[in-house]
Amino acid sequence: MIDTVKLDGKLVSISIKEKLKQEIYNLKKNNITPKLAAIIIGDDPASKIYVNTKHKTFKKFGCESQVNKFKDNIKQNELIDFIQKLNNDSSIHGILVQLPLPSHLNSDEILNSINPIKDVDGFHPMNLGLLLKGNPSFIPCTPYGCLEILKYYNIDVKSKSIVIIGRSNIVGKPLMNLLSGSYGNATVTLCHSYTRNLKDYTLKADIIIAAVGKADLVTRDMIKENSIILDVGINRISDQKSDKGYRIVGDVDYEGLRGKAKAITPVPGGVGPMTITMLLSNTIKAAKII
Ligand code: NDP
Repeated sequence: MIDTVKLDGKLVSISIKEKLKQEIYNLKKNNITPKLAAIIIGDDPASKIYVNTKHKTFKKFGCESQVNKFKDNIKQNELIDFIQKLNNDSSIHGILVQLPLPSHLNSDEILNSINPIKDVDGFHPMNLGLLLKGNPSFIPCTPYGCLEILKYYNIDVKSKSIVIIGRSNIVGKPLMNLLSGSYGNATVTLCHSYTRNLKDYTLKADIIIAAVGKADLVTRDMIKENSIILDVGINRISDQKSDKGYRIVGDVDYEGLRGKAKAITPVPGGVGPMTITMLLSNTIKAAKII
């Protein structure tokens, strides 16, 4: 049995935040306080939790955070006008629109209206384009967090075979480009819901990154010995033993993979904490540019 290492995102976060504290201090000495403006639309409970956690983290680190709440009947042009105001407000360094948006809103058009130099989520086509060209400005926070976990644990991806499951614009696609480009020099296979026999791919992978949103998608029989697993998924499953009646799990059967995988990120406590830390990092970067 292999002694599987827990890739502890909380630990990596703490180490990065220590460095960020110094950067915040240096900016404040020059009268610059990094400031994030978040936009949340509607009453989605998960979105509220995410925005609130981001807000608290920014406050805890002495940064400014402004949460702008709108009803879910807001019109497309009203929202874009509001984003323009944030674009023109020199005290704001980062703008974030919490996704998903209500279906009547055109997410692409809204994300495109954010000034790319304030696009700390890294979803603007210009920032995604720079990333694709191998010269990223703002790396989307979750992929960035995955890279930092690999770096912290000295996991060299060069020439490795990596399978990413999930091809979203916010996780899978940016990761594929970063890891297969000069940053990683890995050989990356991107799997999705049309992939036939997923197991054929995962069994050959040195590293698997699961970003799907399906509990227990990756099971023990699907991985080879000594592989490294990053679990991005966040799934709520019913659990009558818990006070809340549910618990949060990833896309990977964590307990099942222990003893076979070399290392795994847990859920919670793996990639999740990194996403917020990298948002802080991107906002500090924006504050230095503006
Ligand atoms: P999306 O729903 O945008 O994408 C899911 C992807 O999974 C799609 O590409 C889909 O394929 C693919 N997929 C669905 N079913 C299967 C299957 N059976 N086999 C292989 N691929 C499949 O999700 P996101 O990228 O936004 O998020 C993925 C997960 O990561 C979610 O659980 C989300 O909550 C979590 N997440 C966690 C974050 C964190 O901070 N830890 C941040 C962001 C997301 P297709 O394209 O063909 O539909």
